[in-house]
Amino acid sequence: MPARGRRGSCGANGPRLAISAWQPFDRSLETMLAILDDPGADLRAYATALDRLADAPEAVADALHDSDINAVLASCTFCGKRSRQVRRLIAGPEVLTCDQCVSTCVTVLDDELSSGWRERHDSA
Ligand SMILES: [Zn+2]
Repeated sequence: MPARGRRGSCGANGPRLAISAWQPFDRSLETMLAILDDPGADLRAYATALDRLADAPEAVADALHDSDINAVLASCTFCGKRSRQVRRLIAGPEVLTCDQCVSTCVTVLDDELSSGWRERHDSA
């Protein structure tokens, strides 16, 4: 199935995502397709396969949450750049800031508050 080869990556040079996280969905879909092809399958088998297929997205979401995908997809709250586009992302409560935005902020503060703003803030 060609789609399976593409799933799990973000383009040819993109980061590899947690392909194994999709296995619950793959298994439940394959089971559903097998039951649909089985002329002897009864209503109970259809219902069970549908229940498993319906539960699969939550299992995938749990697996992705536990993987490093969050670090790969993390982005600066201010400029939106991804972690791979910057040297460092600094986490705060509910926000991330990149080194480039911090540098811009330092330049703005230097311009607006004069170059001694850090010392004055520390001693205040
Ligand atoms: Zn930024």
